Amino acid sequence: MTHPPANAPMDIRVSELDPRPREECGVVGISGVPGASELAYLALYALQHRGQESAGIVSIEKGQSRLHKGLGLVSDVFTAERLLSLPGDSAVGHVRYSTAGSGAVLNAQPIVVNYEEGNLAIAHNGNLTNQAALRQKLVSEGSLFQSSSDSEVIVHLIARSRHRQVEAQIDDALTHLEGAFSVVISVGDTIYAARDPRGFRPLIMGRIGSGHAVVSETCALDIMGAEYVRDIEPGEVIRIRGGDVVQLRSLPPAPRHAPCIFELVYFARPDSRLWGISVDRARRAFGRRLAQEHPMDADCVIAVPDSANSAALGYAEESGIPYELGLLRNHYVGRTFIRPRQADRDFGARIKYNPVREVLHGRRVIVVDDSLVRGTTSRSLVRFIRGAGAREVHFRIASPPVKNPCFYGIDMPSKAELIGSQLSVEDIHRELAVDSIGYLSLEGMIDAVKQGAPFCDACFSGNYPARLVDVEQGLQPAGVPPGC
Ligand code: AMP
Repeated sequence: MTHPPANAPMDIRVSELDPRPREECGVVGISGVPGASELAYLALYALQHRGQESAGIVSIEKGQSRLHKGLGLVSDVFTAERLLSLPGDSAVGHVRYSTAGSGAVLNAQPIVVNYEEGNLAIAHNGNLTNQAALRQKLVSEGSLFQSSSDSEVIVHLIARSRHRQVEAQIDDALTHLEGAFSVVISVGDTIYAARDPRGFRPLIMGRIGSGHAVVSETCALDIMGAEYVRDIEPGEVIRIRGGDVVQLRSLPPAPRHAPCIFELVYFARPDSRLWGISVDRARRAFGRRLAQEHPMDADCVIAVPDSANSAALGYAEESGIPYELGLLRNHYVGRTFIRPRQADRDFGARIKYNPVREVLHGRRVIVVDDSLVRGTTSRSLVRFIRGAGAREVHFRIASPPVKNPCFYGIDMPSKAELIGSQLSVEDIHRELAVDSIGYLSLEGMIDAVKQGAPFCDACFSGNYPARLVDVEQGLQPAGVPPGC
């Protein structure tokens, strides 16, 4: 098999492949701040939207690491007593979401191993696209894996590096990785933070007291009372010891940076700033542009809460049509033991959303959602809105059709399950049974946030900026869920 040159953007056919389950995560690292584990806990609380399946914190006191991690929400996994058992001025934390079947506690992070220079802990956000190839090679050389997480691959690469000094070993390991990684690594009391050369996932540094923190989103700095310093640059590796931050050698540069635009569309919190842009402002700009591209005469604009609130506000501002609260979202939906009644095909959406009849009855309604993935929620929502008496339902989506799975760390189903891949816009119009439909164009979306470009927009365009090595090599990772 011949491969395209490394780093070449690829137009690869992924139609038949069901990509490995992707994972979404949030990370935090703190150095030189008393009570670091409590701060890490707060940061993970703020990053909970990035992963709800497991949470973990390792604290480091005088070189000694203590770890607690488990399945569930941050508030389930940690109690006050647990946090007291995690003393020290440094900490690394992680929240993780994974698709079904890969959520074993063994895959929860941080991963902690004994290391010659003290314990080594790692928390990783992103998806490696060559994890199966690396794993195969490492196993053939004698590595024994404890989990199916691709983050463990990084640990083995560090341990097997021929370099003698830990910083060179980390650097060496990171240069073998392809795909997306924003990682926080602790070795003894020292914290290292690194981003892949394309910078798919965010990683942000803040100052707190006499120390520093790195986090996935600025909302985690806010909750800790930390002050934003700067983004970790794509390809940058830094070492933090309390107030001392040193930039180590950069990773080999990629032809272009590729921060994920879907972080702005859906994934990140609107009170965060990513890629130098306010997420709320980006979503409003998407909504305004959507109103320009797909105007409609109507009585009110409503959002599919909460992820589309900002975009719907933008649409309302631009169109001059009043924004109203036509759908309510229950924020306390966890896993429910109540089984849907056979007849209730809308159960999944019904437990989460409820229409406000007084807003919708007899009205011509524009419903703004941030994205359409499978289309299942939208089908139900349209039925609810019509059931509440809406006269017309006009669906507007503040991003282009999602046609391609993400291999870089956003959880998306396979191509076969993506409604935007399987159906034309006209067919989706019919399928959702709406009076009209309009998607934001890719050009319109990029133009709306032009100061942040270039982005990775592979889920919309199919242009994958980093090689999909495991796909190219036919290493279908059946039973080998990735880390994140
Ligand atoms: P559906 O089209 O029913 O699959 O769901 C679409 C909704 O899921 C949109 O309203 C988004 O807010 C939300 N969404 C988009 N991407 C994701 C994702 N990666 N994980 C979970 N929810 C998502």
